[in-house]
Amino acid sequence: MQNNWIDISIAVMEDVTKWPTDPNFELKNFAAFEWGHPCDASMVSMSVHTGTHIDAPAHFINGADRIGKWSPEITIGPCRVVNIDHPGYITREELIELNIQAGERILFKTQNSATDWWHHPFNPEFVHFSEDAAAYIAEVKPACIGIDYVSVGGPENGPEVHRHILGAGVWIIESINLNHVEAGEYELIFMPVNLAMAEGAPGRALLRKI
Ligand SMILES: [Zn+2]
Repeated sequence: MQNNWIDISIAVMEDVTKWPTDPNFELKNFAAFEWGHPCDASMVSMSVHTGTHIDAPAHFINGADRIGKWSPEITIGPCRVVNIDHPGYITREELIELNIQAGERILFKTQNSATDWWHHPFNPEFVHFSEDAAAYIAEVKPACIGIDYVSVGGPENGPEVHRHILGAGVWIIESINLNHVEAGEYELIFMPVNLAMAEGAPGRALLRKI
């Protein structure tokens, strides 16, 4: 059977690139063959914002929807991958040219995708939304947006950018690997682990050309 799904998820491992102040990812066994147990079984300790994950509105909006309010149409269905040329920011000007529609799913491929950044130390210069561009996303209200780095906002504007986007009820997929994905029309599947009471959740993200 032909498998034409493209996995755009980052492998979650100890040294994966994450927001610098988030706790380290840890995976440890509580049962193990080598300790004489009949199975291997492990537990994890991590920020729900490590690796490919979604931000629910509650991440920056007190009292807003948590992961339990996720519904399939937010992150499953037709999706557009678009190129962003600006080397520093996603700007309102570039977004206007893209003619983003309400309810659309749209993933932004920036210069971040020029390297396998998830194997490298956090780069504070990563391409991210300007506050003005985030305000534009809030105006046009796509169902979800995605970005090819650990956050939609940079060190200088992270809270403001998140508040604009999440405040409009737009969910955000972060830390996706678009290195081998061309701009175009796709089918997207992203399903967050149902950490119902959390403000974010890791998941697996797949694209298929349509
Ligand atoms: Zn996040």
